[in-house]
Amino acid sequence: MDLRVRALETVLAAKGYIDPAALDVLIDTYQTRIGPRNGARVVARSWCDPVFRDWLLADATAAIASLGYSGRQGEHMHAVQNTPTCHNMVVCTLCSCYPWPVLGLPPTWYKSAPYRSRAVRDPRGVLADFGVVLPAETEIRVWDSTAELRYLVIPQRPVGSGHLNEEQLAALVTRDSMIGTGLARSPGAAP
Ligand code: FE
Repeated sequence: MDLRVRALETVLAAKGYIDPAALDVLIDTYQTRIGPRNGARVVARSWCDPVFRDWLLADATAAIASLGYSGRQGEHMHAVQNTPTCHNMVVCTLCSCYPWPVLGLPPTWYKSAPYRSRAVRDPRGVLADFGVVLPAETEIRVWDSTAELRYLVIPQRPVGSGHLNEEQLAALVTRDSMIGTGLARSPGAAP
């Protein structure tokens, strides 16, 4: 795969279709400037501000854009909220569709065939592999991401986080908790 990508890049650059410097800027942007910290700020705001949370659930694209996060691979967003009785988890069964503006680039496992097939067949088993064991009566909803619509999971606000401000809350929101393969960290838990 690495060789194929390099070969393709070389040919496209030689033909003048792409500028390697522009490609470097794009890759650096998604690796360092855009990432799960953006999504964590969205989640923390929704935990602190019920009006924002309602907006996020009604029109995620607009609510997320109001915090400055929009663009490629995030043109149409939908937010799903975890509750004590329902846990949401996201997969792209076809390929690797993922909300770049809020989560950055997808982790390798998200793109792997085993995750993509098992997430729908055995979501509880996949969650267990990630160390997440939910009560048997908790409903698990699996959302199949597409190029047209991408999902952001709003994890449950951790118990004992009532005294934290928005920035401190954002630090508890992990990437996996926004995909649904993890939970938000408890205050005081090791990062
Ligand atoms: Fe996809």
